[in-house]
Amino acid sequence: MLEQPYEYTARDLVEPDWRRLPGFADVSTDEWRSAQWQRSHCVKNLRQLRGVYGDLLDESFYADVEADQAGRATMSLLVPPQMLNTMVPAAVPTTAAMLADPVRRYMLPVASDRLPGDDGSHPHASRDSLHEHEMWAVEGLTHRYPTKVLAELLSTCPQYCGHCTRMDLVGNSTPAVPKLRFELKPVDRQGAMLAYLRATPGVRDVVVSGGDVANLPFRNLEAFVAGLLEIESIRDIRLASKALMGLPQHWLQPEVIEGMGRLAASARARGVSLAVHTHVNAAQSVTPLVAEAARALLAVGVRDVRNQGVLLGGVNAGARQLLDLCFALLDGASITPYYFYMCDMIPSAEHWRVSLATAQTLQHDLMGYLPGFATPRIVCDVPYVGKRWVHQVAEYDRVRGISYWTKNYRTGIERTDADALDRRYAYYDPIATLPAEGREWWAAQRTKDPVLRTARELAASR
Ligand code: SF4
Repeated sequence: MLEQPYEYTARDLVEPDWRRLPGFADVSTDEWRSAQWQRSHCVKNLRQLRGVYGDLLDESFYADVEADQAGRATMSLLVPPQMLNTMVPAAVPTTAAMLADPVRRYMLPVASDRLPGDDGSHPHASRDSLHEHEMWAVEGLTHRYPTKVLAELLSTCPQYCGHCTRMDLVGNSTPAVPKLRFELKPVDRQGAMLAYLRATPGVRDVVVSGGDVANLPFRNLEAFVAGLLEIESIRDIRLASKALMGLPQHWLQPEVIEGMGRLAASARARGVSLAVHTHVNAAQSVTPLVAEAARALLAVGVRDVRNQGVLLGGVNAGARQLLDLCFALLDGASITPYYFYMCDMIPSAEHWRVSLATAQTLQHDLMGYLPGFATPRIVCDVPYVGKRWVHQVAEYDRVRGISYWTKNYRTGIERTDADALDRRYAYYDPIATLPAEGREWWAAQRTKDPVLRTARELAASR
C-alpha cells in the first residue's frame, strides 16, 4: 500500500509546560489562567524578553529582535505569555529552535528573517494595502462589499502580529511606521457606525473588529453588539478576536462568558447569527486552553467559532502544516477552518508572502481531507476588489508574477464608476519567487518608474 500524501492521525492537544522558561518557572496554574496576569506579563520590549528567556538564548537573538524593531518592523512587540509558551512547545528553547519556530517567525520577528534592501518590500506594497480607509463610510467602518461591512472599533490588540494587514492603524508606532490615529472618540465613532447601519438596510452582515475586540471593555462591546441587534436588517454578526488563541484567558473570564451568553441569547431570539472569528496560523497554537475558550463560547450559544488564518512563508505554507492546523482546530477545539488569506502587500513582508501559484497548489492539496464545511478556502484579498478564491484569477503572468482579477460588485467608492466591473485589478507575487527573467524585468521597472518607490519611502509615506 502506498502512503497518502497526508496521513491523518488524531492528536491530543497539549498545553506546553511554561515552567521550562526561566521567567515563568514559578508561575502557578492559577496565575497562568488569569487574564490579568497574562496581560501584565506580556513581552513588549527586549528587557522583558530577556526576563523570560534569560541565558537560554544567545545575545545574537536579542540583537536580531532589537535590530528588527529599530529597523523595518511595522508592528511593535506585544506577545502574551500564552503565545510565548507555544514557541518551541516541546523542549527548552534554544536559539536555533527559536529561529526556526513558526509562531516565533511571525510573532517575534527578527531582522535576519527579512529579505535585504529593496527585496524586502514589493514595489507595489503600501500601507493600508487594502485601501480600507478610502472605503470608510464613517470613521472605522469599511463598506467594501455590497451587503457587509467591517467595523473597526479600536486600534489595539492583546498581541501584535508582525504581518498585520492593518499595520497602518493598529498598534504603537515603530521607527519605520508612524501610525494613523482615529480622530473621533470611541463613543462617537460607534454611534456614527450604528447610525450609518440604521440608514443602510442593504447591509446585513457586520464584522466587528479592530484591532481585537478582546481589548474593548466587555460592557462597551456588549453595548455596540446590542445596538447592532436592534437594527432589523442585520442578520450576521462576527466578532474578530485573535485573543481567543493568543489570550484565551480573556474569553474564559466569567463576566465575559456570561456577557457572551446574553448576546447569544438575544441574537438567537432575533434569528441573528452571532459568531466569533479568530486567527490561528500554526497547529502548536491550538492548546487545551484555546479549546476550552472556544467551547465555552459555543456552550453559551455562539453559533460558530471560525478560523481565518494567514498563509505565511516559513510559518504554515505547506499542505501538511495547514492540514495539521485544520485538524487541531476542528477535532481539538471545535473551531471551523474557514479561510487562509494570502499575506497582504504591506511593506517589508516579502519573506512572508508566497506566490499565487503556491497558494493554488496548496488549495489543491487541501481538498478532500476535511469535511466540505470545514475545508478552508485560500483567498487573495485583491486591492480594490476584495476576497477572491485563488482559482478565480482571470489571467496570470507567472514570469512577472502579476495576476489579474475581476469583480462583480462596486465597492463604496465606485458607485458612480461605470467601468469598475470591466476593469482588471492586479495583484503581485513576491519578486524573489520569480524566474530570472521576471526578476530582471522588475529591476528594470524600479530604475525607470519613479512611482515604484523603495521600502523606506513607502513606510514613511503617510
Ligand atoms: S490580532 Fe489581527 S489586528 Fe491585531 S495585530 Fe494581529 S493581525 Fe493585526
